[in-house]
Amino acid sequence: MLSGKTAVVTGASRGIGKAVALKLAREGADVAIIYCGSEEKANLVKQDILGLGVRCESYRCDVSDYAESETVVKQIIDEFGGIDILVNNAGITRDKLVLQMTEEDFDSVLDVNLKGAFNMIKHCYRNFMKKKYGKIINLSSVSGIIGNPGQANYSSSKSGVIGLTKTVAKELAGRNVCCNAIAPGFIETDMTEAFKENETVINNIPMKKMGSPEDVANLAAFLADSASDYITGEVIRVDGGLAI
Ligand code: NAP
Repeated sequence: MLSGKTAVVTGASRGIGKAVALKLAREGADVAIIYCGSEEKANLVKQDILGLGVRCESYRCDVSDYAESETVVKQIIDEFGGIDILVNNAGITRDKLVLQMTEEDFDSVLDVNLKGAFNMIKHCYRNFMKKKYGKIINLSSVSGIIGNPGQANYSSSKSGVIGLTKTVAKELAGRNVCCNAIAPGFIETDMTEAFKENETVINNIPMKKMGSPEDVANLAAFLADSASDYITGEVIRVDGGLAI
């Protein structure tokens, strides 16, 4: 149970982030949800979470912006009294072969997926040090483990998230703060809309189906719970066997 805990979930307006925010709220956590462009969707998520009887506020923030993310983290700490669980879920893709990939395609994906996670961790770092307890959960991807043609930017960012996870895990282990990464395969969200009907993609997954956002949310809830207090620096796949 997560009653009495405050969770921050980035990219919680849609997809996996929405499912994670709802799952943590169902487990009893108060939740601060961060969105970037989808204000209406974030408001609907907020209403759903409030309906579960826990506290919820939504905040607009581009996580790739260092100053903006600092302001939002300060505001959340002021309003909720501290942060116990940070889920760095916000992410984007700009898939192209390296031949066609522009500098902007590369930089924008690294800025949101990797620097965004760094920014949030950096601004929450003192809060976790003071609490001497906490859970940081970063969304990586199987693409960051095995690579994927057309995703030089994305897989680099997601490999980077694994390095960030392991380093932060070592830095904060003495303070009882766990930092782990989840590496999903193909999960049914807006991000993978184009692959839904693609038989080659589905047949390549040993379990022959895409996962649901809830499959990822279930693992996030376990990693957010005290049941996983001795697990840190780990990368756990939720991929139906894709990267075996
Ligand atoms: P999604 O449906 O496309 O949703 C992306 C979320 O990220 C949205 O809530 C979006 O907010 C937010 N976001 C994007 N840019 C942002 C920014 N600059 N600042 C703050 N928030 C931002 O994606 P998803 O499929 O749920 O993926 C969630 C995470 O899982 C990502 O890190 C992704 O890389 C990872 N992942 C997904 C899959 C998959 O198969 N779906 C597989 C492996 C890893 P707004 O809509 O408000 O802009």
